[in-house]
Amino acid sequence: MKCSQCKNEAVAFLKYNGSHLCDKHFIKFFQKRVNLEFRAELRITRPVRIGVALSGGKDSSVALHETKRIFGMRRDVSIVAVTIDEGIKSYRPETMKAAESLTAKLGIEHRILRIEDAFGVTMDDVSQGDRLTPCSYCGVFRRKLINGAGIEEGLDYMVTGLNLDDTAQSMMMNLVRGDIARIGRMGPHSISKDGLVPRLQPLRKIPEKEVMLYAILQGIDFSHSTCPYADRAIRNEFRESIDRWEERSPGTKHSIVNSVDKIKALIPLESDIRMGKCKICGSPSPGDICQSCAFEKELGTWT
Ligand code: SF4
Ligand SMILES: [Zn+2]
Ligand SMILES: [Zn+2]
Repeated sequence: MKCSQCKNEAVAFLKYNGSHLCDKHFIKFFQKRVNLEFRAELRITRPVRIGVALSGGKDSSVALHETKRIFGMRRDVSIVAVTIDEGIKSYRPETMKAAESLTAKLGIEHRILRIEDAFGVTMDDVSQGDRLTPCSYCGVFRRKLINGAGIEEGLDYMVTGLNLDDTAQSMMMNLVRGDIARIGRMGPHSISKDGLVPRLQPLRKIPEKEVMLYAILQGIDFSHSTCPYADRAIRNEFRESIDRWEERSPGTKHSIVNSVDKIKALIPLESDIRMGKCKICGSPSPGDICQSCAFEKELGTWT
């Protein structure tokens, strides 16, 4: 099949807009969307320090690569990659290697934070026994660490590699739970509220498969390793359903994100993010005790 824009061989067929693209035009289309999304999410009017949450997988590696591509030459922007070590023996060492190799290649500062150092427990420990899925604890601990790093490092923004698939899944999960307040708190954020570092999500409108293809075409180092606990997550059930809808009706994922973005814009500001402070650690929290402290208490890891 030929590219819809030139005579070269196509490497991608984008069902949702009917176009076949060669490598050159695919890369151009990909970068155009990232540029537009960054422009929509971020207006730089003073020197800023941008963190990139880097797991070592394809999405965050592409997010780091794109942040460097767009802002790497600017004197008023500094970039630091932040990797969380969750304590998962069959997954983290390989992904850490990929993260270290990419940051070295791009010449980006790299901070590594360990859940075990901060919370006294690894996700391998948590997976033993009759508890919630490790992802429930991991997500909460990781968010707290990333936010703490954001504050310590003086970060103005934190870029994450969430792609279109992740974003549509999170939105549907929040809708199904009726959690409108959480929809109001979803990124991207334009300003910092209650001590939370605003999140930027430059890949949020780009399908996962395209992020993978871009990483391969650009020769970006990333790890293919997947977390052994990933298949326990309820998210997978949403992933399967949404993938089926997309297959039957191309463009569904974009429609979910565009629709929920419109709903989010209608959520009144006062109910948007009404955060107090955790009575134990002082972190921003919608309740008296933040979820991280509640988990630490449950796991008995308080020191
Ligand atoms: S799949 Fe779950 S346990 Fe594994 S790294 Fe992701 S959130 Fe953590
Ligand atoms: Zn072409
Ligand atoms: Zn707390």
